[in-house]
Amino acid sequence: MKTFLVTGGAGFIGSAVVRELIKNTDFQVVNVDKLTYAGNLESLAEVSSHDRYTFVHSDIVDAAAMTEVFDTYQPDVVMHLAAESHVDRSIDGPAVFIQTNIVGTYTLLEAARTYWMGLSLSKPEKATAFRFHHISTDEVFGDLHGTDDLFIETTPYAPSSPYSASKASSDHLVRAWQRTFGLPTIVTNCSNNYGPYHFPEKLIPLMILNALAGKPLPVYGDGKQIRDWLYVEDHARALIRVAQVGEVGETYNIGGHNEKQNIEVVNLLCELLDELRPKSQPYAKQITFVQDRPGHDVRYAIDASKIARELGWTPKETFETGLRKTVEWYLNNTVWWQRVLDGRYQGERLGISGH
Ligand code: NAD
Repeated sequence: MKTFLVTGGAGFIGSAVVRELIKNTDFQVVNVDKLTYAGNLESLAEVSSHDRYTFVHSDIVDAAAMTEVFDTYQPDVVMHLAAESHVDRSIDGPAVFIQTNIVGTYTLLEAARTYWMGLSLSKPEKATAFRFHHISTDEVFGDLHGTDDLFIETTPYAPSSPYSASKASSDHLVRAWQRTFGLPTIVTNCSNNYGPYHFPEKLIPLMILNALAGKPLPVYGDGKQIRDWLYVEDHARALIRVAQVGEVGETYNIGGHNEKQNIEVVNLLCELLDELRPKSQPYAKQITFVQDRPGHDVRYAIDASKIARELGWTPKETFETGLRKTVEWYLNNTVWWQRVLDGRYQGERLGISGH
């Protein structure tokens, strides 16, 4: 039975990957996560007691701990998602982004390389089949200004924020470890994800929860920035497909073919809430425009035709079906997000009582 080592498996996308691996494959899953503010073991409640699931509370920057993880669990596949992921936080405090996204990726690559070289001697077949899959973002490409352009796998990197610059660095490290040392790596770059268990600092969950609380819905600048959106469970399925059948040394773009202006997304959310949780005033009345984010990219749009053509993956959800599922999930899972909002998801795991 294959063992998948997932880093960042308590985060938004990582937890979707772990849930998918446990529910729809027979692989062993080892989740290595530091449990930063973005890590929430409650997102894994439905799979965490499964006998194919193991949690390791550890920091990818800790070289000795990573060596021990590889030695103990002998993974067949690494899916590396652990990262600091929020652009606004990278502007307020870039240091941790450099540590986790760059130094952490370097540390993991070195632990993986040592382990893989050992395998080449002791278990050559397992070494040949080993994969290190690095999960990245389309933000490494910078932004598009023409309306027809799309990011393709060979679009030059031009990151704008400390977050995207740190992810770009990590992508380069991964490719260098493949080219220089022969480590069997694959990189994927994906557009904006949305869906269940999304930390409420990101656009879609923030808008849903602010709307429900009767608070303003803050939209940056004129709201005309364009993003391509992908339902998180579609991303998780794409990642597992790439990890299993992707070509070593290749890059695959992953996207939903759903380019929307931020203001369109917020209006769609308001319409869904008007239908599903009606109140006297339309939710759109709560929209307020606030000062734009420094360095804010204008448009991202991804060409995901390579992964469709070569690996047979396409998303199941349209933006309309995925957004409806997401709003319904937040309406039906108030306990999950209330425990995030009041900090109990962190307090209890640290053994702090109260609330
Ligand atoms: P997230 O912030 O929700 O989760 C990150 C996880 O990594 C958390 O569980 C956190 O505890 C863990 N982590 C952070 N630092 C760590 C460290 N030093 N050691 C071990 N664990 C650590 O992020 P996400 O949105 O799930 O994104 C996952 C990955 O996918 C990231 O690499 C991100 O760059 C990439 N990505 C995200 C999106 C998106 O829209 N969210 C899109 C494309 C790519």
